[in-house]
Amino acid sequence: MQSSARIGGKLVILALFAGIMAPEVLPADVTVTQLANEGVILSDGGKNQVMIDGMVTEPYSLYGGLPENVVALYSRASGPFAEIEVALVSHQHHDHNQPAASCQLMQKSTGTLLVSSQQVVDLMHEKCRQLAVAGARIKVIDPQYGQPEVMQLGDIKITAFRLSHGGGKYAVLQNFGFLVEIGGMRVLHVGDADMNAADFIRAGVHSMGIDIALLPFWYFAPGPGGELVSTYIDVPHKIANHIPPGEMAETKEYMQGAYPDVLILENPMDQVSFSPAVSPTP
Ligand SMILES: [Zn+2]
Repeated sequence: MQSSARIGGKLVILALFAGIMAPEVLPADVTVTQLANEGVILSDGGKNQVMIDGMVTEPYSLYGGLPENVVALYSRASGPFAEIEVALVSHQHHDHNQPAASCQLMQKSTGTLLVSSQQVVDLMHEKCRQLAVAGARIKVIDPQYGQPEVMQLGDIKITAFRLSHGGGKYAVLQNFGFLVEIGGMRVLHVGDADMNAADFIRAGVHSMGIDIALLPFWYFAPGPGGELVSTYIDVPHKIANHIPPGEMAETKEYMQGAYPDVLILENPMDQVSFSPAVSPTP
């Protein structure tokens, strides 16, 4: 079996392991749209759209926000933000979720379900108390080690699991990994998970049958990340994100040398599409 990845007009054929499609989901092109930092929209061709860490509009610290024209669409929940079925948030940090922006999207959209931790929802309270308290469109989850939370939303299956953000002051943070099954493919997002093999083993990441992994770029920097990725997240398609705009040029240059197969979507709204099953061209 083969799968293809397209960036712009460029078609790259990549090998995909056979037998990893979720049988209950029909294959469709799965498109990853980059937003700010680790924010993405996963789409299966229009019918289903899942956003992860995408309610970020303003720059924060080293990290980028969305360009003005995209913020204009975001603030009206229109264009790519119009039909988000579920918005997942990995953790409360401002480069992953901005409470004012999450309130705005939730107020403008009618069908989006927000799924995250109590910590994330608590920070939204002062911006949109009613919405954050009422909770009909906000689902608070608290997966524990060994006890993932599994949600089936129409065709989409989401498994949320715990992955530590690290020790010290980060130990109390609720950080979730998400496995999203959409369009016959399995997409991994880890939030700001600590690069700790024991944690990935405990979560069972190596046996999830992942097709596409979205990982912070520092997983590929010299250090513990390289071995962690090659041992536990050696999946067909990898995308490095969370790259500060000011470090984009040097990160791209480094990645082209050290990890030429890992994709980078440089600017918000850049996209790549994957086909779970492509017949060889006759
Ligand atoms: Zn963080």
